[in-house]
Amino acid sequence: MTGFKNMLHNEFTELPFQLTFLGMIFILGICIGSFLNVVIIRLPRGESLIKRSSHCMTCGTKIRPIDMIPVFSWLFLRGKCHSCGEKISPRYPIVEALNGALYVLTFWVLDINAEAIITCIIMSLLVVVGFMDWDTMEINEIILTVILLLAVPLALFTSEITIINRIIGAFVISVPFFLIGEISRPIIRKKFGEDFRAIELGDTLLMLTAGAVLGTKAVIVSTLIGIVAAALGGVINKMVSGESKFAFGPFLAIGIAIGLLWGNEIADWYIGFLKNPLQ
Ligand SMILES: [Zn+2]
Repeated sequence: MTGFKNMLHNEFTELPFQLTFLGMIFILGICIGSFLNVVIIRLPRGESLIKRSSHCMTCGTKIRPIDMIPVFSWLFLRGKCHSCGEKISPRYPIVEALNGALYVLTFWVLDINAEAIITCIIMSLLVVVGFMDWDTMEINEIILTVILLLAVPLALFTSEITIINRIIGAFVISVPFFLIGEISRPIIRKKFGEDFRAIELGDTLLMLTAGAVLGTKAVIVSTLIGIVAAALGGVINKMVSGESKFAFGPFLAIGIAIGLLWGNEIADWYIGFLKNPLQ
């Protein structure tokens, strides 16, 4: 690590600096979150991400610049279009606020350094992966490729995880996922119907890229968290919507996000716990 370690948390850093810095990071996060909303909606439809300006989904009215302030405009308009009064999905401010919160959390945990910047980019891509998979049941391979490429600068800036460890990490979950998916798919389809999903190739590729980014220990932690989150999410989804069919990717993305921030710490704590149980 560089000499910038502990810039955010040290004896000379005052609270006003921390709050100002994190406040700016939050504003940056919600602005980028606003663009993520565009990506989540337009990328699966093959629409241009930059060309057309935003418009109301119901009446088609062009959205005024004043109504494009992330999070705040939605709150100010009380979630309604200024022209036709139709409800605007709370999804938009949620994605924006989530992205802002993830940036703040990333800098808070990792401090001000290159690792935190790269991690923030990966967090945003995970938000897109998660919401797009929820909507379309597809994990976008272009985004997975970008995450995989980001493993390279991450490897340069974080020497703790070796290249070998990252390569093993890429396969430690993806190989079992691939095998479980291929073996269980015909059985699940036979039992529950054609459109019922097992572990799909997208989930496998997501965990391959996550392994390269996280390393072996943290990707195992992320997967376990993802599976627990999916089980909980599945129960809640069944209770709320009555549907038992849902995407695995968003929950894996939650696991990976937690793994990026605390994966190695959780793994070390758990290994320590197994060595000395009940001590
Ligand atoms: Zn409208």
